[in-house]
Amino acid sequence: MSSTVALQNMRAFYNNGGTRSYTFRKQQLKKLKQALLQHEEEIYEALYADLKKSREEAYLTELGLILAEIRTILKNLRQWMKPKPVTTNLFNFASSSSIYRDSLGVVLVISPWNFPLQLALMAAAGAMAGGNCVVIKPSELAPATAAILQKIITASFPPEYVCVAQGDGAEVVTEMMESFRFDHIFFTGSVGVGRAVYELAAPKLIPVTLELGGKTPAIVEADANIDIAAKRIAVGKYTNSGQICIAPDYILVHTSVKEKLLKALIKAIKSFYGDDPGISYDYGKIINKKRFDKLLNYLQQGNIVAGGRYTAASLFLEPTIMDGISLESELMKEEIFGPVLPVIPFETMEEALAVIAINPNPLALYLFTTDKKKEHAWISTVPFGGGCINNTLVHFSNPSLPFGGVGNSGIGHYHGKYSFELFTRPKAVLKSPTWFDPSLKYPSFKEKLRIIKMILR
Ligand code: NAD
Repeated sequence: MSSTVALQNMRAFYNNGGTRSYTFRKQQLKKLKQALLQHEEEIYEALYADLKKSREEAYLTELGLILAEIRTILKNLRQWMKPKPVTTNLFNFASSSSIYRDSLGVVLVISPWNFPLQLALMAAAGAMAGGNCVVIKPSELAPATAAILQKIITASFPPEYVCVAQGDGAEVVTEMMESFRFDHIFFTGSVGVGRAVYELAAPKLIPVTLELGGKTPAIVEADANIDIAAKRIAVGKYTNSGQICIAPDYILVHTSVKEKLLKALIKAIKSFYGDDPGISYDYGKIINKKRFDKLLNYLQQGNIVAGGRYTAASLFLEPTIMDGISLESELMKEEIFGPVLPVIPFETMEEALAVIAINPNPLALYLFTTDKKKEHAWISTVPFGGGCINNTLVHFSNPSLPFGGVGNSGIGHYHGKYSFELFTRPKAVLKSPTWFDPSLKYPSFKEKLRIIKMILR
């Protein structure tokens, strides 16, 4: 079947209204959960094949997060779907006002390869909770996971409700969008492709959510607990071999604690991955040769303090720490997206802010300090998507927190209730009684200005 016909079928299915009842949404999300549990082993195998993720990491960073998201939705959906009464102003006296949440229609979810299951299904679950039909376009660079995703979706849902469109991103998405108007596009990926998707959507005025990347700083103040900072930065940086949109991209450390932090980082890496991370159960691989070569090139752009070993055949690159880096280097101008960690010393907050300003609006920011005033100063000064104090990554895992970027790192937020709000739109309704019908509201308005001014205050 051509993609045009398949999408027209989706549109017809949506227009029939079947996706919008609470019961339908609940049943479908339960079905998704069941299917994920049924295919748990195959999911682990696929994530190992694509990224060498251990079962535990696969659960912690992919499957477990999706299941938790579905749990949150199922627990709250009925409440979220209820029209919310709001106050009504004096001008509309005797009327009542409510906000309904309307489904959007047929939604396209485009996802990347680094968390190939989680990033596709967290968004898709939100779209289903919103009562929409969903097309999922997974990354072709994680083919084993794309295949199991397609198997799960095909086995669970009719294609006119949720389907998977596989293939080259530019080709597949452009083809679908030439003949069809999606009601929303949810894109997770790189800034460049995000821009291309935004441009594709613009002529048809399709609303777009962009979850992009960027250079996330980890700031270590002189008063930080250095051992804790090192452990939490190392786990944030080297999980999935640094291929995480919110991984600490580089460290800004107060000069006075730089040496202490470097020692603690080396110790943390060794305790996590042993003497040879190449044979570690817990350490992953780089997604492909192109990315691997890009990362090797970064190793030439400063001093290697620790790590730096690699094996091209298995796409293994050791957890690496670097210093002596020019702010003009590619390493400090591009999103690293791998296990290479530049360490930049600073003396004053102004100096550190100037480094962040080279790549403004990071997706995340991590601050390590024990000083409340510094917390306030950093959080209120730097625009960033979201982040942690004395931790890394974990803000992503709390469904009560909105997740998204700002400026270059994205447009829009999701997770939990924020996903429901993203994949529905507020529909304002004011209901007026018929028993109250003041003549003031009708022409002629002559001589009524004084009273109109009073009630419109
Ligand atoms: P990418 O932008 O290359 O690809 C993302 C998706 O877009 C893939 O499914 C791909 O097939 C598709 N695509 C490619 N070209 C397209 C086009 N012209 N039109 C439409 N779709 C197209 O990203 P990637 O390499 O898969 O992922 C890495 C990037 O994603 C990093 O920059 C990372 O920071 C970012 N990312 C962001 C988040 C977040 O939540 N903000 C999460 C993970 C990754």
